[in-house]
Amino acid sequence: MQAVIRLGLTGGIGSGKSTVAAMLSRHGAAVIDADAISRQTTAAGGAAIEAIRQTFGPEFITPDGALDRERMRERVFRAPESRRQLEHIVHPLVGLETARQTEAAVADGRRCIVFDVPLLVESSHWRARLDQVLVVDCRPELQIERVMQRNGLPRETVLDIMASQASRSARLRAADLVLCNDGLTLDELAMEVKQIAVRFGL
Ligand code: ADP
Repeated sequence: MQAVIRLGLTGGIGSGKSTVAAMLSRHGAAVIDADAISRQTTAAGGAAIEAIRQTFGPEFITPDGALDRERMRERVFRAPESRRQLEHIVHPLVGLETARQTEAAVADGRRCIVFDVPLLVESSHWRARLDQVLVVDCRPELQIERVMQRNGLPRETVLDIMASQASRSARLRAADLVLCNDGLTLDELAMEVKQIAVRFGL
């Protein structure tokens, strides 16, 4: 049996990471979306809900059984250690679900599993579980333009989000491979992704 390649995919907001993930998926990669898994654990009926109820109280759960995000944001603002408590609940569940999806992808005979992880550079936990790291990169000004357009956000908000993420240089240092998504049309980006797909046996 051919070895499975575990490819980490990351990039700053607006770099084109999600676009690249979708393109790799079309080439047959299994894409595991860490953010989506994390959100599911706290959505209605999610695996983290019972522990959140026990730890923080029933008032943190909405009538339909989801985490009350607004209330939790306020709590974290007033009592910053709450973030850690919440992470202690959510992170192991994300780990379990990621492992489950990875096993399913391997059983399905996938050659390349792409782990779409926004905070990959910040997390030694993730880095240790990957064979290669692909970073999607572009000029910060282009990130700002794309996110303002995609999300209809003011420039300052985009700058705040960017400041909360790993720096561009830290991301580039962590990369085994950099995809420069700058000055490319979507078709040209697709060509670049195709080359990467071939390289990873897709
Ligand atoms: P991220 O997941 O990194 O935040 P996305 O993949 O959602 O970024 O891309 C941000 C926006 O920029 C999307 O609207 C996407 O369609 C657009 N985009 C990304 N790369 C290109 C490109 N090469 N040409 C044109 N638009 C692009």
